[in-house]
Amino acid sequence: MKRLGHLSPFCLRIVTAILIGALLVSHHVVPALGQMSGASPVEELTATSKVAIDFPTGLRFTTTLSLVDAPMNIQTDEVDLVYLIGDDETERLIIVPVSELRQADDRTIAVGTLIDFQQAGIPPGLEVTFWWQVNRDNVTLARSQPDKTTWFDNRQEWSELSTAQVHLHYFGLDADFAKGILDSAQGTITRLESTYSLDNSRAVSIWVYPNQDSFRGSLPANSRDTIAGGSYIGFSLIAAVIPNQSTSEIGRVIPHEISHQVLFQATYNPFTILPVWFDEGMATHTQVGGTSSYMGMVISASANDSLFDLTSLAASFPFVPSQATLAYASSWSAIQYIEQKYGQEGITALIVAFRSGVSYDQVIRDALGISMDQLNADWKAWIASQIPT
Ligand SMILES: [Zn+2]
Repeated sequence: MKRLGHLSPFCLRIVTAILIGALLVSHHVVPALGQMSGASPVEELTATSKVAIDFPTGLRFTTTLSLVDAPMNIQTDEVDLVYLIGDDETERLIIVPVSELRQADDRTIAVGTLIDFQQAGIPPGLEVTFWWQVNRDNVTLARSQPDKTTWFDNRQEWSELSTAQVHLHYFGLDADFAKGILDSAQGTITRLESTYSLDNSRAVSIWVYPNQDSFRGSLPANSRDTIAGGSYIGFSLIAAVIPNQSTSEIGRVIPHEISHQVLFQATYNPFTILPVWFDEGMATHTQVGGTSSYMGMVISASANDSLFDLTSLAASFPFVPSQATLAYASSWSAIQYIEQKYGQEGITALIVAFRSGVSYDQVIRDALGISMDQLNADWKAWIASQIPT
């Protein structure tokens, strides 16, 4: 791991569902547009918005709202800003406080408000779709047409490259090297669609920073200091550090993060999320390089009787770096074991079973014909058999 310098192998893996849970504390989720029309027809609200990025806080809106035929009054009318993030379909709503409204004339309200993405833990690099609505007596009076803007790190001058399923944003990298990142990402998506039995993987946005210093400050506040990459799977977003001309880092980081994105879609169901050991095990198997020390690490943990149970790696990984590395190594070796014992068909059967949304134990029974406890015991015995005597 020394050759990686200050970059660590850890990957920030965030499931949108968790973010949404955090968001609901301060925002409200509203019903879909189609379900909202009450008895009276909703008028079209004319909205003229200027949106400024205030990085890393969020987006500041300076907007004029007007109605052609009816008066509006900031004392009686409620103004909402409704928005969608990336291709996530959750509608989020901010009720604009009266202190952020100004009566311009009897049919016009001026609004100055903020979406605080930092507080909500929403990473930069996402398109935001937004519209305005005015409510009176809990009935929506008028609504504007949807508009789009992008929430991104505007401290940098970004260049762009695209394929059908990858939108790459980068700075501080040679163009041919950036093309290599793009090709790695698209190539991995195409390959994994076949391996993970997914028809058409969603397009992924990738934002690449050339060094840790520029990357830091774009992450959620409570992140590790030395994360090399992050996959925000519900948002189809990847953020990563790849130094210019470091081809080995492309191989280590990009296929790994792409694996999280494609596997999430291949196993998506409304009831369960993937156990972390399976997700990281598949990701570390997809990456090129950076895993050569894993088997030795797991064998010596087994010799010291300090190897994890797979069930303890289902919900999260340890935060202490040495333990986190052992968790990655254990996950990698569990996939290695499954492949060796059950073949690629075993892996495919697991992916199909995870997609069905049954319990983890039932997934293992359906796919491999044994219990989770038995899989754990078999894997541990396989590791122990490799302890040098
Ligand atoms: Zn990962």
